Amino acid sequence: QFQNVGFIGLGNMGSRMVNNLVKAGFNVTVHDINRDVMKMFTEMGVSARETPYEVAQDSQVVITMLPSSSHVMDVYTGTNGLLHGDNAIRPALLIDSSTIDPQTTRKISLAVSHYNWEKPVMLDAPVSGGVLAAEAATLTFMVGGPKDAYLAARPILESMGRTSIYCGGSGNGSAAKICNNLAMAVSMLGTSEALALGQSLGLSATTLTDVLNTSSGRCWSSDKYNPVPGVMEGVPSSRDYDGGFASKLMAKDLNLAAASAEEVGHKSALISKAQEIYKKMCEDGHETKDFSCVFRHFYNGKDE
Ligand code: NAD
Repeated sequence: QFQNVGFIGLGNMGSRMVNNLVKAGFNVTVHDINRDVMKMFTEMGVSARETPYEVAQDSQVVITMLPSSSHVMDVYTGTNGLLHGDNAIRPALLIDSSTIDPQTTRKISLAVSHYNWEKPVMLDAPVSGGVLAAEAATLTFMVGGPKDAYLAARPILESMGRTSIYCGGSGNGSAAKICNNLAMAVSMLGTSEALALGQSLGLSATTLTDVLNTSSGRCWSSDKYNPVPGVMEGVPSSRDYDGGFASKLMAKDLNLAAASAEEVGHKSALISKAQEIYKKMCEDGHETKDFSCVFRHFYNGKDE
């Protein structure tokens, strides 16, 4: 049973995940390059350290929740990173929950497995569910790496999420995450285009949504996260696309899908089309708006 958990990356997601680890009774040590956020945690009685290396020395498990591949690489292999030095006490388990490409995950996992005498194990465990799910401890973790390490990590994951799915070997959690977000990006585009065309053909978006949701066009974007303002309450489209999952994060995840597809020689017309549209949404000033604002791309900025 692990008790001492290190956590690196206390941003929108990480800060909330740490709160849930603390609530669940884990002894948490944190680090972030942002000193203000570290101060916030020390004031709450959580121990903070100056470097990832120091966090590693105090922890049986270290979780990272960082913006992108280069940050994760840096925290693992950089100066004073998690793998710094030779003879330090090592955590037994390293869990990366950042959304990064599976190739980088596998490279880091290999570096971890080549490391010194007390071999730590690495899991990739990115999450689905945004800030609200991080706050409510209802995230879904998609996990790649050795299965026994996954089973050992479950009590920790379950303190921050509702579901965890074992996806296979190293990198498979990252692969699952970017494939899920690709499906979500493309289905949001398809739903938005259909709803925009329907309106141009004289149908109300509410009526067409009723049809889609009781027919074969139904999907998460139509029945849980409808992109047309006024059709559904409590979703970003009903509050000028504020909150939710920012277009710039969707653009980032599509870039990961494109890079991963290229690396394995997979041709995908839809990845590049989706990339093009989300990139344009960001360039047009919607980068912090929820990604369902792509509806505007198809409906010329007019609402229902
Ligand atoms: P964020 O930008 O809010 O937080 C990242 C944190 O990492 C920041 O506090 C930053 O200071 C810290 N950081 C950056 N470089 C560092 C370094 N070298 N050492 C230590 N700390 C460092 O990002 P977020 O929204 O919390 O997302 C984190 C990850 O989760 C991303 O990969 C994102 O794609 C993924 N994700 C986000 C959401 C969401 O809705 N925000 C949902 C699912 C997955």
